[in-house]
Amino acid sequence: MSTEAPIVIVGTGLSGYTLAKEIRKQDQETPIVMVTADDGSSYSKPMLSTGFTKGKEADELAQASPDAMAGQLNLELRTYTSVTGIDPDAHELVLGDERLAYSKLVLAWGADVIRLSIPGDGQEHVFPINDLMDYRAFRKALQGKKRVAIMGAGLIGCEFANDLRNGGYDVDVIAPSNTLMPGLLPPAAAEAVRSGLEGLGVRFHLETVVEHVAARENGASLTLANGEHLDTDLVISAVGLRPRTELAAAAGLEINRGIVVNRALETSAPDIYALGDCAEVDGHVMLYVLPLMACARALAKTLSGERTEVKYGTMPVMVKTPCCQTAVCPPPPDASGTWEVDAEGQDVRALFRSGSGEILGFAVTGRYAVEKQALSKEVPPIHN
Ligand SMILES: Cc1cc2nc3c(=O)[nH]c(=O)nc-3n(C[C@H](O)[C@H](O)[C@H](O)COP(=O)(O)OP(=O)(O)OC[C@H]3O[C@@H](n4cnc5c(N)ncnc54)[C@H](O)[C@@H]3O)c2cc1C
Repeated sequence: MSTEAPIVIVGTGLSGYTLAKEIRKQDQETPIVMVTADDGSSYSKPMLSTGFTKGKEADELAQASPDAMAGQLNLELRTYTSVTGIDPDAHELVLGDERLAYSKLVLAWGADVIRLSIPGDGQEHVFPINDLMDYRAFRKALQGKKRVAIMGAGLIGCEFANDLRNGGYDVDVIAPSNTLMPGLLPPAAAEAVRSGLEGLGVRFHLETVVEHVAARENGASLTLANGEHLDTDLVISAVGLRPRTELAAAAGLEINRGIVVNRALETSAPDIYALGDCAEVDGHVMLYVLPLMACARALAKTLSGERTEVKYGTMPVMVKTPCCQTAVCPPPPDASGTWEVDAEGQDVRALFRSGSGEILGFAVTGRYAVEKQALSKEVPPIHN
């Protein structure tokens, strides 16, 4: 390993750029190289599901060009460059035929969309949306179209459903679950969001899946497992995300649901760190912005010479369904307790209480959504 080698950060999503900004707050000099498979635009991914509501085209969601970012952060940025391997012993990153030496390597390469292999000749009408480039392609294909079918009723599917209705599109949502956002929202809150979205005109086809996607003139014809047929112009696939682990596993790094790191964001290999959607931090895989910001701040200190552990506080999530304001802080997966629910129409306050009465999680919708902050103070932080 050369001591002259730069810190190399793979990924220019919120994790990569936030980390680079945090490093530069304390250290202007250490060479940093950022490598990304995409065009390197700086943008906030959560804004992708607000384009119509905010009246923005895909390009207006980009906040800064790669050149501007490289200049502002005093670093070298390599765009459209895919990492194909890691050689931890040599302290080198493999970029196809080329090798790039690192002093410290940070994996901030995100999560992959889960792709269903649904038979049929209409695949070109199916769009996963997990970055700005995907969103640009989707918006281009949407021009002159009216109907969108969304596969998946998780947070991302529901947010796109609301946003596309705000844009005046016809929206059908198809999902195998019997409620929205299962695993994130308790049923009472999920019902409130569903009634909000239905009030906007979203049609739900729950407890079924798309079995076949056939091409039609200018669109797709979907056959659902329940026997229904739906004609649509475009399909968004929002059936879930999986941390990118393949290249790390091939390099011998410890993998579980994500790339395994401790609270100092250290992987099992020396001088290799991970954060963001690809990382499993002290057992937590949280595909959200708040945790990655906390990780970026801690890791920047570590990389500047002061080994620092991340401390997760309470991590509430805002669901961007303006038709039914929603905030949720899911209880820990292994917590025992019960949901206590106050519900009146779309106003729901669901509190998850332990046997001793402590609030371990909550979901609030409608007029109760404003209680998010106060409730977040009551829920114990993830790390003490
Ligand atoms: C529509 C939508 C709405 C969302 N809303 C919210 C919200 O309201 N609140 C919230 O907290 N979270 C939200 N999220 C989640 C949040 O956006 C993500 O947790 C966060 O953006 C992840 O950032 P990241 O930098 O870890 O990964 P990414 O943004 O996925 O960045 C990964 C980077 O790695 C690069 N890369 C990948 N593989 C390679 C390779 N082999 N070689 C080189 N480069 C590579 C990519 O090109 C990219 O630059 C939302 C997500 C979506 C899709």
